[in-house]
Parts: sequence; C-alpha cells; structure tokens
Amino acid sequence: MKFMSGNELRDRYLQFFVGKGHLRLPSASLIPQDDPTLLMIGAGMAPFKPFFTGKMKPPRTRITTSQRCVRTGDIENVGRTARHQTYFEMLGNFSFGDYFKREAITWAWEFLTKELELPEEKLWVTIYPKDEEAYKIWTEEVGVNPAHIVKMEDNFWEIGPGPCGPDSEIYVDLGEDRGCGSPDCAVGCDCDRFLEIWNLVFTQYDRTEDGEYVPLVNKNIDTGAGLERLASVLQGKRTNFETDLLYPIIEYASKVSGVAYGKDEAQDISLKVIADHARSMTVMIMDGILPSNEGRGYVLRRILRRAIRHGRMLGIEDKFLTGAVDAVIKIYDGVFEELTAKQEYIKKVISLEEDRFHTTLTQGMELLNGYIENLKKEGKTVLSGDLSFQLYDTFGFPWELTDEILQENGMELDKAAFDAAMKQQRERARAARQDNQRVEIPDLRSLDTEQLTVDETATSASIACIWKDGELVDALQDGETAGIILDVTPFHAEGGGQVGDTGTFEGEFGKVTVETAKKLPNGTVYHVGYVTEGTVKVGERVNLVIDQVKKLASARNHTATHLLQAALKQVVGEHVNQAGSAVGPDRLRFDFSNFEPVTAEQLAEIEAVVNEEILKGTDVEICEMKQDEAKAKGAMALFGEKYGDVVRVVSVPGFSMELCGGAHVKNVGQIGMFKIVSESGVASGVRRVEALTGKAAIAYMNAKQQILQQVAEKLRVPVEEEIPGRMDSLLAESKQLQHQVNEFHAARAKADAENLLQAVQEVNGVQVIVAKADAADMDELRSIADMTCDKLKNGVVVLATAAEDKVNLVVKASGEAVKKGIHAGKIIKEAAKAVGGGGGGRPDMAQAGGRQPENIPAAFEKAQSVIKEQLK
Ligand SMILES: [Zn+2]
Ligand SMILES: [Zn+2]
Repeated sequence: MKFMSGNELRDRYLQFFVGKGHLRLPSASLIPQDDPTLLMIGAGMAPFKPFFTGKMKPPRTRITTSQRCVRTGDIENVGRTARHQTYFEMLGNFSFGDYFKREAITWAWEFLTKELELPEEKLWVTIYPKDEEAYKIWTEEVGVNPAHIVKMEDNFWEIGPGPCGPDSEIYVDLGEDRGCGSPDCAVGCDCDRFLEIWNLVFTQYDRTEDGEYVPLVNKNIDTGAGLERLASVLQGKRTNFETDLLYPIIEYASKVSGVAYGKDEAQDISLKVIADHARSMTVMIMDGILPSNEGRGYVLRRILRRAIRHGRMLGIEDKFLTGAVDAVIKIYDGVFEELTAKQEYIKKVISLEEDRFHTTLTQGMELLNGYIENLKKEGKTVLSGDLSFQLYDTFGFPWELTDEILQENGMELDKAAFDAAMKQQRERARAARQDNQRVEIPDLRSLDTEQLTVDETATSASIACIWKDGELVDALQDGETAGIILDVTPFHAEGGGQVGDTGTFEGEFGKVTVETAKKLPNGTVYHVGYVTEGTVKVGERVNLVIDQVKKLASARNHTATHLLQAALKQVVGEHVNQAGSAVGPDRLRFDFSNFEPVTAEQLAEIEAVVNEEILKGTDVEICEMKQDEAKAKGAMALFGEKYGDVVRVVSVPGFSMELCGGAHVKNVGQIGMFKIVSESGVASGVRRVEALTGKAAIAYMNAKQQILQQVAEKLRVPVEEEIPGRMDSLLAESKQLQHQVNEFHAARAKADAENLLQAVQEVNGVQVIVAKADAADMDELRSIADMTCDKLKNGVVVLATAAEDKVNLVVKASGEAVKKGIHAGKIIKEAAKAVGGGGGGRPDMAQAGGRQPENIPAAFEKAQSVIKEQLK
C-alpha cells in the first residue's frame, strides 16, 4: 500500500481514467443546473443526470470527475463517527452507453491493486445475488477469491421508475483490531472493520411505471468512491478527519481554542464539526450561495451557526471562522482555482454572518439554558413551539440548533407547534408586504436629490440610502423589508393608475427582491423591497434587473386603456371622460362618466375598434411639450390632475393622444389582443369596464372555448356550433317530459284514491281509512287524501308515504266527521311522534314529516286509537 496525499490521490484517480479514454471534467458547482428538485449536488453523477436519461448528449461517452458534494441529512452525526461529513468529494468514472460491467470492474480492481497497491487479500466485494454476469467477471476474469464475494439483496440501485440496475461494492478489511470482535463480524457489519470504498452501479434496466424491468439499449456505468475515505485508508488514519484533507483545520481550531485533539471525546466532536463545516461553508460560498432563511442559503446559515456554537463549546469567544477558511484554502491549493480567487469574498460573507450571529448567540443561549432549567424543574422534556420560535425569530437560532441543544439535554422541541408559528409569521410577513408595500418614510433632507436620476437603460447603480421602520440605516440583512433609493434607476414608479416595476437588485453579498417602485412627493423614485439573501449596504453597487415580463404585461394594459378611452368616445359619445383607472400586469380597469350602462352591442363595437387599432401595428409616440401646445393639439388630460408646465404626451397617431407619465408598449401591435370581460356601475354616473390584453386575453378565450368543448362533449354534438340547436331540442323534450310526469301523477293519485276506498272501515258512523300511499311528494300525498276524502260522505283519511329514510303523513277529515269530534291536527301529532317527527294542523287537515319509515305501522295504530277516542 502506498502512502498518498489527498490531492495526489485525486490526481492519480483522474489520470488513471484519462488513460482509459475518459474526458476529465472539473467538478460542477454545488448548485444544480436546471434541476429545481435538487437543493444541492450530493453525488458524482448528479450533474450528469441529463446524459443518463438521454435528454442531452455528453461531450464524450467516457467522463471522469472528482465532484464536490454537500449532504446534510445526517448532520447530527458529523464528528460522532469516523465518516459522516456534510462536505466530501466523490471520485467517479462514468460511461454513457459506452463500456459496461467488464471494464468498470476490471479497471476498479486495477486502480486499487496496481495504482494504490492495496493488498488483494484485504479487499472484499459485494454483488446483487441475481447478477451472474458480475459474479463471473469478478471470479473468472479478475480472479477474486469467491470466499471474498458477498451476495447482498440491497445491491440494486433504483429511485422510482427510470434507469436502474444492480451494483457492486468494494470493501477494504481494516483489520481485526478495528472490528467489533463479534464472531459474525463481516462485510456489512456496523463496526469500523470493513470499509466500503467504491460503489459500481451498472445501469442496465429501465423500470417502467408498471414496475417492469426493460433492458436498456444504451447501458450506463456510474461509480463513486469517497475521496476522504480512500485517503484515510492510504494514510493509515482511523477517521477521515485525520487525513490531510481535514486535519489542518482541526489543528487550526485546536490552536485557537487551546484544546488538544484526542484528549476528550466531546471536545474532539466539536473540533471535527468545525473542520467539516468550515469546508462546507467555504465551498458553498465559493459556488455563489449566500446565507438566508430559505433553501440552500438556510443550509449554509445552519452550518455556519453550528460551527460557531461548537467553537463556543471549545471556549472560543472571538470570531474564528475566517482563519478556518484560510486552512481550507491551503488544503485545496491548486485544486479549485475559484477558491483562491474568491478567498477575500468568502471570508467577508462568513465574517458578516459571524458578526450577526455572535451578538445574539450569548443572549439566545442564556435564554435557552433558562428554558431547559425550567423544563427540568417541571419534569418536562418538550420545549413549546412558541419558545423555540421566539429563539428563531429574535435570535436567529435555526430550529435544528435548538433541537440539537435540547437533545443533548435529553429533550426535544414541539416541531409541529414551531411549524405552525413559522407559518403564521410567514403569512403575517406576506400580508405586511402586500399591505400596499407601505414603508414609513424617514427624514430625507440630508439626501442630495439633485444627484438622483431616472434612466430606463440603467443596468447597475449605487445605493444612495436605505431606511427601515422609518429610520435611515447603513445596511440591510436577509428577511428585512426596506425603502431603498438608488443614484440612478430604470424602475418605473407607481402612478396614473399603473403599478410600479418589480425586479431585483444584486449586490456582491446580497440580493433584494423589489416589490414596487414609488415616488416621494418631490418626484424622487424609491424602491420597496426585501432582502432575500445576504446583506446589502449603502454605497454598494448593485446590478438591476426588472421583471420584463410583468413590465410588458402592464405596458400592454396601459396602452390598451388609452385605446379604450378613444374607442369609448367614438362609440358611446364625446361626453365620456376618464374617472379613474387601474393598470396591472394581469388586467386593466377603466372608470368613466356615463349615465347608462354601455349596451352589449356597444361593447362589441368598442372591442372591435380597439382590436382593429391593435392590428394596424402603429408605433406609440412619446414626447414632451409645453402644456398649451399639447392642449391645442387635442391631448386628453385627466380632470383634476396637476401637470407641470412641460408635459409628457403619449400618442397613437391618428387615434389617441393623452397626457400621461406611464410606461407603454413601443408598438400597439404588442398588445396582441383586447377582450372586455365586464361592464358595471360603480357609482351614480360612473361606469367601469374591465378588460384583458395579450396572454391574459388569450388564456381567457381559451378557457371559454374549453367550457364549450366540455358542453359539446356532454351534449354529444360533434362541433360547438351544434350546441344551440341541441339545447333547443333538449329543452323542448324536457318540457314535454315534465308535462307527462304531471299527467302521470294525477292519474296515479286518482287510482290510489279509488284503491284506498277498498280499505274503508266504520267507526261510530264515520268512515275511516288508514293506509300507505305511493306519492312522489307531500303535494301528491295531499291530493290523494283530498280525492279519497271527497269520495267518502263522512270520513277521515290518514295516509303515509315512505321515501328513503323519510316519512310523509297527511290526515284529512270531512266537515261531518269534524262535527262528530274528529281533529286531524291532534291525530297527526300523535302519529308523527311514532315515526320520530312532529307536526300539527287544523281539525280538517294536517300534515307532518318523520324519519323512521320502519315505524309507520306504529303510527297507524296510534292514529286508529286516537280516532276511536275522538269518536267515543
Ligand atoms: Zn463488526
Ligand atoms: Zn396613461
């Protein structure tokens, strides 16, 4: 076995595979390209996914890399085991439809035994039990002792449907003294003796949605070997942390803290955490990630704050992480060129975050320790979501950090309650932002507004001032909302009914999302935004990006409003005047004076006039002139609006001319399409038209079209044009059926009444009928009762109908019967009780409902006995 430095090992590996016809590519960025499902690159093959799935053609069919990876799934275990790291490098050789199993296996063996001179008898191999091909290659061609080959069921690599296949792992036996001593100790044991150093994945199937494994035409090879692991073997170290890829950082932390490595287990854990996390944060920032409360930025923040806390645990009170970064940069000297080039930048980002966290860590820790004491006193082990959220909100404690500290004390936090508090706060923040993006404006008298300009073409600017909660500040951090003024801005401010531009400012250390631009009373444009990641400072230069899609959508609607006003004057009359308007990217609203609703015909005509103008494709002209001159030319001005001496005139030559400060399309053809969606009254003498343009208008028409198609399908007509005809015939048919149903009911009622007469019985000279009847509803039941009663000279009729789980009851009595003592209301009261209902009525007529059809016989018995009672 050869001793080899980490850097040497990486080089030897890549060189070896270059010798086998591979293209050596530099490590890809940790930020995945075009893969929103992935937070960060966590495996060597991750950047090559499009090559594996065949979506993209690789630059060569054989590629080799040493890929930087970040994984945080097991972050709590970092430092506690020999191998867990959040950052590592993965050596890999890949074949995209080129070589397959034979080459992958023999080359891996050749590299390990010839290049690295690992003793063959120390190496073990695992394979998928059904992979006869791999077994044959390992035993017959490579000559591995079959006793050193272990068949394992889980040696099959797959993630849902898609490319998948068996894999084969290579292990090195580190010797009995590293083992657990158990007689069963073997490859796959949890102890440290057998170390997996390389995984070869043979992607040979495509798993279908139905779970079938179809052989791939182009088989792929994907292999991965952890650089740090392999280095630990070659350097004879017990853990990855003691290799030259990590140990210099431990030495640095040890020097700063005065804590020696290898004396105390808990302190060793902290030293190792710092070593690992220092590498992660350095490389993450190198790749362009900034601390924030979301996504990758949050992972970075968590790692940074965790490292600081472990520094504290070692007694380091001062900032120390930038020194750790120096150690990292020394380790990777000549490996990642960007690292050296960006070292000052990386240290600045870390230093800012360290400053920010330091000031609150002490207070937060004190508070948390207090909570822990209280819980202990109360004999509880769960910290409430409110308290842990307060730590997050006020002191920036990532919840994972709170949870970890709690776990060290045998406690946990109420994650569900924390999440609920977090969700509430996000909603509050969103509502606060949407609340007209109001920011309290501070005293800006010291600001030299003469130097501030507006320039539509500007792409970068310096931050002239920032304020937050009504106070001027020097810097803003992620999560903060503020007002920002630039020395020059291309952002269009709110005004004249049009919304302000949205977009972003990107500084070296932070990013601002601009939610709108507004004007101060003196006309100075300011921006309302919040920092999504990192920090921005006064005086800093930032790149400006306006959301052009939204801007163009707003411009379409604004120019369309001008066309609409002109068309209204043409179609409805010259008396029409603008009373207000609202123009956003999604729709336009135009209010105007008019005493009657605009008719459907007029609306259709207005729409046609505007669309005709759009189709002409005229350029929009914008110029400035003296106010008198503009008025003389017939420019429409908004009544009550103040205009300066020099005014801005927006015209669509030959059609519309208005005084206006808004943003417009360059050519009316860009509006694409104009569609009125509503006309209504908003106040006496004021009407409102709402309309859509561009993509929104097309989407609206398509949605309507889809409804028509659905209706056509349901009506079973081949084309939409046949819908009205089919509807007419269906309505006629339905009317006809209703008529038939009515006739049928009447006939049935008559027949039922006659039938019921058969059931008549005499009680003291009164004819009594108590029976079930078939009736569709209460109305029909009543009419059967009426008809039956009419046929009796002197009688009382009690009828019931059961429908599903309901009962309808009716009692009808003739005048004679009432005279003899019958009271229909009283009868029904008792009968209804028996079916779980209630009701009452007059002496001659009563009705009720119930809910127990099974008890109708009991209700009848009750009615009979009441009748007998009444006729006594
Ligand atoms: Zn073992
Ligand atoms: Zn306008």
